[in-house]
Amino acid sequence: MRVVVIGLDSEPPVLWERFDAVLPTIGRMRREGIFLPLASTDPPITVPAWMSMLSGRDPGELGVYGFRNRASYGYGALVTADATHVRVPRVWDVLGAHGLKSAVVGVPGTYPPPPVAGVVVSDFLTPPGAPYTSPPEFRETVERVVGGPYRFDVEGFRSHDLPRIRDEALAMTERRFDLACHLAEGGEWDFLMVHEIGLDRVHHAFWNHFDPRSPRHVPDSPFASVVERYHRYLDARIADLLARLTDECVVFVVSDHGSRAMEGGVYLNDWLREEGLLTLRHEVEPGTPLRPELVDWSRTRAWAEGGYYGRVFLNVAGREPEGTVAPADARALAERIARGLGELRCGAEVLVPEETYRAVRPIAPDLMVYLGGLGWRALGSVGHDDLYALENDTGPDGANHDRLGVFLAWGKGVGLGARCSGTASILDVASTLLEPFGLADKLPGEPIVEVTDLA
Ligand SMILES: [Zn+2]
Repeated sequence: MRVVVIGLDSEPPVLWERFDAVLPTIGRMRREGIFLPLASTDPPITVPAWMSMLSGRDPGELGVYGFRNRASYGYGALVTADATHVRVPRVWDVLGAHGLKSAVVGVPGTYPPPPVAGVVVSDFLTPPGAPYTSPPEFRETVERVVGGPYRFDVEGFRSHDLPRIRDEALAMTERRFDLACHLAEGGEWDFLMVHEIGLDRVHHAFWNHFDPRSPRHVPDSPFASVVERYHRYLDARIADLLARLTDECVVFVVSDHGSRAMEGGVYLNDWLREEGLLTLRHEVEPGTPLRPELVDWSRTRAWAEGGYYGRVFLNVAGREPEGTVAPADARALAERIARGLGELRCGAEVLVPEETYRAVRPIAPDLMVYLGGLGWRALGSVGHDDLYALENDTGPDGANHDRLGVFLAWGKGVGLGARCSGTASILDVASTLLEPFGLADKLPGEPIVEVTDLA
C-alpha cells in the first residue's frame, strides 16, 4: 500500500459545502470515501498545527505555540519556529525507520529540510536563496519540473494589490502540483505529501470579497469569484494527481484549521495599559509596535503578543529579567486578566497551557486568548484611543483562522465496515497515516479510519 496526503492550508468544511457544485473531484472523493470535520490544535495556527498533525504531539509537547515563539524569558523578539524545533519523530521518520520512503513537498515545519528517507522540498518559511531540498541535488529536478525558480509563498499577501496576489497564488499552485504530479508518476515513494499554502493566502486576501456576512464585505467586488475560482483550480489539479496514482494508493485530504471572516481586532496591549498592568516609558503614536525598550518593565505586570490569537505573558519576579509579579501571585493575576478579557464586547475565551496540553515545554505563554470565537484578531500595537479596530494592524486581511478544518480519506479499502461520525482530531492524523503500513502504534493517537489491504 502507498499513502498520498494533500494538505490544503486553511480549508474549512463550509467552503466544500458552498462550492460543492463546482468541485467534482473533491465531491466524488467525499461521496466514495470518509469525510469528517477536523478539530485543529489549540491554537489553530499553521506551523504548530502541521507539526502536531504529523507527529501526534500537541503544541505544548512540541513547545511550539505559534509562528514565532519565545526563545528565552527575556523581553526580546520572538523566534520563528522551524524544523529544528521539532524534537519528536514525525510520520516520515517512522516510515524511514521501517525501510519506507517519503516524498514531502512544502509541509510547514520542514525548513531547513530535514534528512528523510526519500526527498523533501521545504516550506513557505524558506528564506530567499536558502537550500531547500533534501538531498540538496534534488533541487535540480524540482526546477526542471516546474520550469524555473520554485515558489514557496505569495510575497506580501497582506497587500491591496489584489490582482498580483490572485495571479501569484495560481502560478505558485500550478508549480506545486506540477511537481506533485511528477513525483506521483515517478513512484520512488511509499508516502507522498504535498502542502499548498496558496489557499490560505487567497482566503486572507479575498474572503471579504465573497462572504456577505463579513463586516467588511465589498459588494459587487470584481474579486468576488477569486476564492471559488481558486477552489476550482485546486479541484482540477487534485484530479490530475489522482490520475497518476495506482490503485494501491490511499489518498487523504486534510487541512490544518479552517477560515472565517475577520470581524475586527482588539488592541490587547492598550487594554493591559488601561488595566494598569502595562506601563510605557512615554506616550507613543497610534499603531506603534510594542518594542521592549518602550516598556517601563519596573511598572509592568503583563504584556501581550498579537496575531490570530492573543498571548499574554506575565512579568514574573525571578523568571523575567525585571519581573514584578511574585510567583505566588501569578495565578491570581492570570485569573484577573482572564475575567477582564471576558468582559470585552467581542467576548473572549482564555486558555491556560497547563490545563490544555499533555505537557508544557518551554516557553509557553501564560494565557492564550481567543477573541470573539476567533472572529476577532489580537492586535499588539499600542497608542490607540479605541480598544477596538476594524482592520488588522499588520496589513489588510479579510480572514481569520477557525477551529474546524477538513479530513477526507479515499481509496480502495478505506473505512470498509467502519462507521465514522462526529469530528476527528488533528492529533489522530499521524497514526491514521501510518495505519495502512501497520505502524499506527508508533506515534500517539488513534486511527480515524481503518484501511483494509485488499491486495
Ligand atoms: Zn494554516
